[in-house]
Amino acid sequence: MVDKNFKDYMLSNEIVKSLTLLGYKEPTEVQREVMPLALERKDVVVKSQTGSGKTAAFGIPICETVEIEQREPQALILTPTRELAVQVKENINNIGRFKRVRCTAVFGKQPMTVQIRELKQRVHVVVGTPGRVLDHIKRGTIDLQKVEYLVIDEADKMLNMGFIEEVGSIIDAVPRNRSTMLFSATLPEEIEKLCSKYMKSPVRVEITPEALVSSRVEQELYEVERSEKFDLLKSVLYVEKPDSCIIFCSTKDNVDELNERLKDEGIYCNALHGGMEQADRLSMMKGFKRGEFKILVATDVAARGIDVEDLDLIINYDVPVENESYVHRIGRTARAGKSGKAVTFASPGERRYLAGIEDYIGYTIPRVEPPSREEAQKEKKEFITRLKDISSLKSDKTEVLSKDVTKIYINAGKKKKMRPGDIVGAITAIEGVTAEDIGIIDILDYVSYVDILNGKGRLVLDTLRNTTIKGKEVKVEKAEKPQR
Ligand code: AMP
Repeated sequence: MVDKNFKDYMLSNEIVKSLTLLGYKEPTEVQREVMPLALERKDVVVKSQTGSGKTAAFGIPICETVEIEQREPQALILTPTRELAVQVKENINNIGRFKRVRCTAVFGKQPMTVQIRELKQRVHVVVGTPGRVLDHIKRGTIDLQKVEYLVIDEADKMLNMGFIEEVGSIIDAVPRNRSTMLFSATLPEEIEKLCSKYMKSPVRVEITPEALVSSRVEQELYEVERSEKFDLLKSVLYVEKPDSCIIFCSTKDNVDELNERLKDEGIYCNALHGGMEQADRLSMMKGFKRGEFKILVATDVAARGIDVEDLDLIINYDVPVENESYVHRIGRTARAGKSGKAVTFASPGERRYLAGIEDYIGYTIPRVEPPSREEAQKEKKEFITRLKDISSLKSDKTEVLSKDVTKIYINAGKKKKMRPGDIVGAITAIEGVTAEDIGIIDILDYVSYVDILNGKGRLVLDTLRNTTIKGKEVKVEKAEKPQR
């Protein structure tokens, strides 16, 4: 039977409401397969490609089953990279927003103190990279005793990045009586070993509805001398006029160099690679997702897990050395049922990598002739004009969902004995506002933050400005920037 609707999974209204606002009309295949198993708390091994909707496949059941009153984390999700951790966290926060599910991400290069503070609060779901999660376990700053769901996302990447031992140590620290879900694009022997060692008769789900590469990705290959790649790149950009494009290079030096060369030509773009500060990487990705700039020059590591809607062009300026990277890179386009184009530049020195890739995907990538110089030049002006036009900024999904949510700041916290009940009491005393309109409440030592849902933020702010909480005058304002 093919279920048509999220309502067929007996999900609560709060979860269905988020899914509707996220624009998820019906479950994807991996969601149809995995959700019922996860809701029954079965162990699952899922072989599925990125872009299949796998995050929500575990995110929805986790949010659905979370006990909101419980303080300790009930789900732990391990991801190979920080970018993916942040993305998964956002996804879970979006899915669980109306249920008030709190999800936090822990990863390296972010101050421990901030994470420790977050982990001390009520947190239902923790997403993290193995190294940092293990660090918290060793320091005793994370309590995993109530974890019921353990998710290992992109397990093959963890293996390739050398994290598998750490993953094993983390699993040992999580209660046995849990369900484990492992997601991976491939299932090499080491992953199989991990599954048989740590999982209880896992149900296997294999999502291979499409070939390794979606047929919605139009692939093209240019055979070109290394020295001619830059001119070819310009021509391709002029002709294609992408609204959102990632150009992949194999090293961070190549990324920086190409980024500069493009800028020198008046082609506005930005770079993303692992050598950059974490905060810069995140804000760069955010800007790109929102469409603040249209061309991103990146390395594989930095682009892993990037989930950008409507990415219409991928350019492999350097042929990836690993076969799987090719699939990963071009899988960034044509997501969620859309179509896209992937263009590869192969110099004679890169032919052997290309041969490996074609062997891996099982066919020859169509060779095409470069656009003529005249043809390209004719298109240049329009390309440059369009490149500058960022009038239609995309709001990312979090923002769409946050539109109805206002975060308010109160200048009193634990030290003034502020409790959630006090805040709820003050807010629900306002006419036209009920407990349903209050989202997550964060009470810190000196200040508190409250999410007001359903577009009632203004009303709450205006009323609380002239009132007292617990008989004390407090300052209530719109929080300047999102705290989570
Ligand atoms: P993932 O494979 O988890 O990285 O998801 C790929 C993309 O599909 C993300 O942009 C999701 O927000 C989107 N997505 C996930 N589930 C659905 C759904 N049921 N309907 C539409 N889009 C979805």
